[in-house]
Amino acid sequence: MSRVLLIGAGGVAGVAAAKMAQNPDVFGDLMIASRTLSRCEDIKANILKRGFAKNGAATRIETAQLDAMDVAATVALIRSWKPDLVMNIALPYQDLAIMDACLEAGVSYLDTANYEPPDDAHFEYSWQWAYRERFAKAGLTAILGCGFDPGVTQVFSAYAQKHYFDTIETLDILDCNGGDHGYKFATNFNPEINIREVSAKGSYWVADPAEDKPEVAVENRKAFDKGWWVETAPMAIKRVYDFDGVGKKDMYLLHHEELESLGCNLKGIKRIRFFMTFGESYLTHLRCLENVGMTRIDPVKFNGVDIVPIQFLKALLPDPASLGPRTKGKTNIGCIFHGMKDGKSVDYYVYNICDHQECYAEVGSQAISYTTGVPAMIGAKMFLDGKWRVPGVHTCEEFDPDSFMAELNLQGLPWKETFSPVKVD
Ligand code: NDP
Repeated sequence: MSRVLLIGAGGVAGVAAAKMAQNPDVFGDLMIASRTLSRCEDIKANILKRGFAKNGAATRIETAQLDAMDVAATVALIRSWKPDLVMNIALPYQDLAIMDACLEAGVSYLDTANYEPPDDAHFEYSWQWAYRERFAKAGLTAILGCGFDPGVTQVFSAYAQKHYFDTIETLDILDCNGGDHGYKFATNFNPEINIREVSAKGSYWVADPAEDKPEVAVENRKAFDKGWWVETAPMAIKRVYDFDGVGKKDMYLLHHEELESLGCNLKGIKRIRFFMTFGESYLTHLRCLENVGMTRIDPVKFNGVDIVPIQFLKALLPDPASLGPRTKGKTNIGCIFHGMKDGKSVDYYVYNICDHQECYAEVGSQAISYTTGVPAMIGAKMFLDGKWRVPGVHTCEEFDPDSFMAELNLQGLPWKETFSPVKVD
């Protein structure tokens, strides 16, 4: 039986904690520590109310106040509580501080989003990959980006590569949220992180730019590892896709973090793209907020005080953790692969459909937090069971996918597959 320190107490952390409590045979003791203690206590109360004890066993839950930017405070908590694993489900800004604390206190690490500096709306793995040698030397494991996307999308990729392909040539990741919360504008996870992500330039990864025929103006091409980033204006590439369980939705090409590691790790890969669905109302509001400067991340003087517009906007928007009771509909997130096996061309689509109201009934959350929190719990279970315990810093496609895929079916995120998908042109 293991001890886990969970840092953060938002929508995703609430689901991860609830799912750990559903597996008390693995997760014996759980400490939930976050900036606002009352939110940790709310998560604990929600779990106790639901009574997730199994076969007479229940996860013992404690709570603590912690500012995870304070490395010394995190080290002190780790040393006194002695967890086997630290799960960082706070915000990407805390990744490096928590990794530093883990190294100093000698404990392994898992997160759901890659590091992003607060003053630059830009994310990439380089900052966390720079910890590879130190984690490996210390005999510690760091599992990066273990949510759905990133996370399950990379497990899907490892599974496709292991079982169905000799080489994967193209990969399209499709993230569809067909849920409706009834608000004119709200984000499904942390508003600041979400808006920074979707207002960034679009980009996709290609192995050979000479083979790429861009359909819109290319703003920039940057060499990266074995290939190139092709950068476009935000939301410049649009498709309509008919999603199983949801129906037809507009989806737009976005830059996304797992493209970076998959470009390095998939054999024979020539192109990777990521698409996410957005409704007209969301995009119109976002454009308007951008046009008036409300998504700016630099401080602005207001009545003699410095305020950061996007942080002020976050304070006005609904808390994603509160969307559970209102959100109806389904999500569908998956990967479409094309490649070769034994000299024959293969197409393969693997995806999960998740129902917002079913998630709410089970753990009190909407499906975006659910589809992130469940894989975070499974990743922790993989580590604690010893299956994903490899010293160093790793993304999810670097581990054996089979046990994780089996757990998805058992823990509330069953997947479907087809070898004749409708492809994205
Ligand atoms: P929320 O904003 O709901 O929760 C974030 C939590 O982190 C809050 O409880 C917050 O505290 C806490 N926190 C913030 N700063 C600190 C700090 N310095 N020290 C301690 N705690 C802190 O976010 P979500 O739950 O929606 O998202 C959590 C993470 O999951 C994010 O990194 C997000 O990017 C990632 N994510 C990943 C996805 C994937 O598929 N891989 C999909 C969706 C999200 P307070 O309560 O005081 O604000």
